[in-house]
Amino acid sequence: MMIDLSGRVGLVTGAARGLGLHIASALADAGMSIAGLDTRKDDLSAALTDLRQRRGVATLALEADVSSEPDVIGAVERTVETFGRIHALVNNAGIRLVAPVWETGTETWDKIMAVNLRGEFLCTREVLRQSMLEHGDGRLIFISSIAGRRGTRNSCAYSAAKWGILGLAHSTAQDLKDTSIRVTTITPGRTETPMAHESEQWDPARGWLDPDAVARAVAYCLRQDPATVIPEFHLHHEAEL
Ligand code: NAD
Repeated sequence: MMIDLSGRVGLVTGAARGLGLHIASALADAGMSIAGLDTRKDDLSAALTDLRQRRGVATLALEADVSSEPDVIGAVERTVETFGRIHALVNNAGIRLVAPVWETGTETWDKIMAVNLRGEFLCTREVLRQSMLEHGDGRLIFISSIAGRRGTRNSCAYSAAKWGILGLAHSTAQDLKDTSIRVTTITPGRTETPMAHESEQWDPARGWLDPDAVARAVAYCLRQDPATVIPEFHLHHEAEL
């Protein structure tokens, strides 16, 4: 049985641009109300206003840093105050900084871990504490990466954080076994987003996933009934096979 998402509430982190914005748009197309969280205040506000006007859904812009505990607690509080509850969390916000391991500074390591791993932990914990556990139902989506499944050159911290997300997500799923809250980790390959265009790897000839394909995968996972579990969803451009 596929679930009708209309009227449900989704909290999407990193929603100001890139994959997060494509995901927010796909969920709005399915009729969901969207709380978007990002550090890029102006981009976020413009993106969500556009979504509200074009898709006719309710939106809420949350300026917050996923690595900051007070920011995350406050953002989840505002979402619950505004919409009543949260049906789906999409842990998408992330950064990528590149260097071989011997040139990776401790600050770089800590920053990537704070945003890409602690951020997903904090958002998950707060959404569970403030909304989902009370209802015993919901969906948690973790955006990892192909770099979370195989070593990647110049990406030791990024890859370690993305690998950590799989451990966080699979352990969270075990903790939630007795509820109807379901957990999926999505591991996209190279995806054409602003992050990709800003990356040292950018070369249009390499083959990049369409971010809409990843967004459709998120919507597909959210539509599954609780009896159907999708622990991991791998997507790649054919050039990466
Ligand atoms: P992007 O840089 O284009 O967009 C990321 C968004 O996250 C931005 O709006 C940014 O402001 C926001 N963000 C960054 N740090 C934040 C923080 N501390 N708090 C709140 N928001 C923050 O990147 P993208 O390519 O759209 O990446 C989205 C996710 O997809 C990331 O987790 C990334 O690791 C993952 N991913 C990307 C690719 C790719 O090739 N682009 C591949 C696999 C996985």
